[in-house]
Amino acid sequence: MIKKAEFVVSNSDPSKCPKPERAEIAFIGRSNVGKSSLINMITGKKDLAKTSQKPGKTQLINHFMINDQWFLVDLPGYGFAKVNVKVKEGWGNMIKTYLTKRSNLCGVFVLIDSRLEPQKIDLEFLLWCGVNGVPAALIFTKADKQSKTKTNQNVQKFLKKTEEIFEEAPDYFVTSSETGFGKESLLDFIDELVKE
Ligand code: GDP
Repeated sequence: MIKKAEFVVSNSDPSKCPKPERAEIAFIGRSNVGKSSLINMITGKKDLAKTSQKPGKTQLINHFMINDQWFLVDLPGYGFAKVNVKVKEGWGNMIKTYLTKRSNLCGVFVLIDSRLEPQKIDLEFLLWCGVNGVPAALIFTKADKQSKTKTNQNVQKFLKKTEEIFEEAPDYFVTSSETGFGKESLLDFIDELVKE
């Protein structure tokens, strides 16, 4: 249960993030995947994470303090079609440094749009996580947008693809920010991660 959620700081330089003295959980995914909506849904704060960030806007690592206990981190989305190479490189360097160097990072949730067939950009990012030992779990978003059957089909297709990346299937959650579906199981899982 999240009782308290406060914005702490935004950074473009991973080395300037808050002191790593609390457990930390990060969220990442393609732009428009529903990341801000999910963060707002699980924290119960409507405007905590800013929805619909525009491509080209400064890409920042956003830290929030949860229950005075752990950091929730909103990472900038990937896959903006119109972003130029320089911005893409900047994103890559910042995120890769953050994900590989952040000593208090307990887990990274990679958000996947449950309406779509497996997307190359998501699989490539997961592969990078696997190769670099970044502890990734999956969140399939927007489950309210189609039938349960369709969602399950897409989830299974995606999981099948991850067999080529991970020896063990990654943990995964199916969610809807619209209905709150999946909130409890996700928060239970996070509780365990930040306790360890
Ligand atoms: P972000 O770019 O990943 O932060 O994505 P946003 O949270 O801004 O969401 C992108 C769009 O998808 C917005 O129009 C949201 O209202 C919509 N959206 C996000 N999550 C859900 C969901 O679970 N269900 C439905 N129906 N729409 C969603």
